[in-house]
Amino acid sequence: MRRFSIRSQCSRSSPRDLYEQALHGLWRIEFKWDTMRLAMKCFGCSLRSRTAIHTLLLAVSLWPLQAAPTIFPQPREFALRDANFLLDNSVTIAVPTEPSNEDLFLARLASSEFSDRHHLAVELRRVSFIPDEGRFIVMGSVRNPLVRRYCARLGIESNVPEGYVVDVSNRIALVAGADDAGAFYGFESLRQLIERREIAGARVRDWPYKPFRGIKMYVPGRENIPYFKRFVRDFMALYKYNKLILEMNAAMRLDRHPELNEGWIALGKDLNYTRRDRAWGPGRQLQDSANADAGDSGVLEKDEVAGLVRYANQYHIEVIPEIPTLTHSYYLLARHRELAEIANAEWPDTYCPSEPKVYDLVFDVLDEYIDVMKPHMVHIGHDEWRMPVGACARCKSKSYTELYAQDVNRIYSHLKARGVRVALWGDHLVEPVRGKQIRHVPNPGGVPYDAPGALAPEQVRKLIPKDILVFNWFWDESEQGLGEANEISLRQWGFDQVYGNFQPQIRDYDRRSAPGSMVGGAPSSWAATTEFNFGKDLMFDFLGCAELLWSTHRPGMPELSAGIQQMMPGVRRRLSATPLPSDSDPVTSIFTPAEPVMVRAGMESKPMPIGTDVSSIIFVHASAKPAGNRPAYEGTWNYADTADLLGWYEVTYDDGFVETVPVRYAVNILEQGWGKSHDPRNVAYEAELVQSSRSGQTFFAYEWLNPRFGRPVREIRLRGTSTGPSRGDNGILLESIRVVAKRTHQQLGEKKQ
Ligand SMILES: [Zn+2]
Repeated sequence: MRRFSIRSQCSRSSPRDLYEQALHGLWRIEFKWDTMRLAMKCFGCSLRSRTAIHTLLLAVSLWPLQAAPTIFPQPREFALRDANFLLDNSVTIAVPTEPSNEDLFLARLASSEFSDRHHLAVELRRVSFIPDEGRFIVMGSVRNPLVRRYCARLGIESNVPEGYVVDVSNRIALVAGADDAGAFYGFESLRQLIERREIAGARVRDWPYKPFRGIKMYVPGRENIPYFKRFVRDFMALYKYNKLILEMNAAMRLDRHPELNEGWIALGKDLNYTRRDRAWGPGRQLQDSANADAGDSGVLEKDEVAGLVRYANQYHIEVIPEIPTLTHSYYLLARHRELAEIANAEWPDTYCPSEPKVYDLVFDVLDEYIDVMKPHMVHIGHDEWRMPVGACARCKSKSYTELYAQDVNRIYSHLKARGVRVALWGDHLVEPVRGKQIRHVPNPGGVPYDAPGALAPEQVRKLIPKDILVFNWFWDESEQGLGEANEISLRQWGFDQVYGNFQPQIRDYDRRSAPGSMVGGAPSSWAATTEFNFGKDLMFDFLGCAELLWSTHRPGMPELSAGIQQMMPGVRRRLSATPLPSDSDPVTSIFTPAEPVMVRAGMESKPMPIGTDVSSIIFVHASAKPAGNRPAYEGTWNYADTADLLGWYEVTYDDGFVETVPVRYAVNILEQGWGKSHDPRNVAYEAELVQSSRSGQTFFAYEWLNPRFGRPVREIRLRGTSTGPSRGDNGILLESIRVVAKRTHQQLGEKKQ
């Protein structure tokens, strides 16, 4: 991480260098803390006074939540110690003489963390006891004899499921889990305590607030599998998520129904090429979203899907396939119009629950997924049943709520016979959300019609099996019909539930989530699983909900948002496949105007000369005002432009070739003054919040990788966009341009640092 490398440079930096580095706000805080730590070590300060000074530093520094928590989500009990555990190649990871698979798995994870991120080659050794000399990392559940004996010596234990104790002294770094999952989460906390070749001396006791800690996303497309794996290992596991709801549709090879794969690909192309996320119904009814960018509108082979599940499982993450049935069923119907509720729809979204042949198809599809993914639970969708009542001759004279209940029960019985539990979206179980029995849709853009409403409470009581896990996305009080009353109804009827489409701003969370039947929650991604989409839209939800689900720490929204923005550079370094040159190489200022350059919409800056071969360029900039960032699912044919384009840099090389660098709101820039009254959801995954030491103003540093190594950059121009939602009086303020220049290689005989 860059902040570590900067910190490590502090001791050999000149004051002028430090001034330069201090431009970055976070670095400044880190530097202060580093200096204080050094000073305290020199003066032999106690832990208590260190904490007091740390608190003082936080209070006087720049932001409401200045330093990201040392461990995120914040543990239940966490005390720092004076003595840290030094990391070098003499450290040993100790495993028992007969290690379990889980002991070895943890040891290998630790070893890869040390080599990949900290430039250390740490040895693994089998021992029957921890030797009296040397420094050791010992990790495992209480079944690991080394762990058990050392815990007894320290007089500590962890016995809450998924709970752990971490105890780091200057000689032993211990992770003791109540069970295998606990040991794993202890390791994930230990990872976060490593800084600059030290593990912070600490005692941590921790266990989760809720057992169901999920993220709902689309199965990745083939190109995005590497990102998916990094996200599982270096985000979900790191922040202690344990459930992955993976929407599948027909994005896996279906051997019994190749027509589903063929129709799925055709659907994705048609929506993309017509720039739509769904089709309209024949009377211009609003149909369900097609979610056709699951699997990037393509098809994964079965062994690829099985591989994703295995990969997640080893990180203690259970995969719950979401296989939408009844509704959002485009993938079933694209080549089975005869099974659709509205056969003449352009792309039918809903199947006919009165047509018995529907279930031959649905069960075939469920069985193929079960064979490959071996799930304990399947999410069957069932939300937003919104087609016109009476449009289907087979259903016309029947009770739609009874049809809904029959459909749920048929699928439930099929899955139960295979030992699989059912989850569904619960909106058609609660009248305040969907209305009673039948609801009228005025449909001003087309033909008015009636749509199915919710089951009556007595129907829910009688007709719906109570061991179904209900995904409650209707928890937010700010919309009519939604809110706490619905979760109380579900609880009284006997369901377990989770907060679906979960977001950190839920009101009265501690009180509402206290009952045991509220087993957890899951924020959702409703666009393709890509680094860009997750970075642009979901960091606030994913990190904020991690805190709600694991921790009992409850920061306010501005504080949470500020903390998450400060985490972004570190999160991006883990999730992005490409290292940033500034992590290892010096940063040089190359353009520092006395006042920030303001480029308004439709204008362009003067050329700013560069004249050198660079590894990367760091633009330190901010927008004059907030701009817009629509969710990626509103532009499935072009995710990038759902974030307002404020302008772009034109990077001109010595041969005249021009590369452009888009400047997009909530991607690589936010407004000046961000952090005072901003929308907490707007964070910038690709930028680092910095403070100008000259003006005191906040900016965002975005590091752009040069795609043409070896070709000098002649100059850079900044242009403001003149069309689109950001036109008007917004603009881009450019504080400075800094570069990481081409590295000079060492000559033979030169002394290495
Ligand atoms: Zn029908």
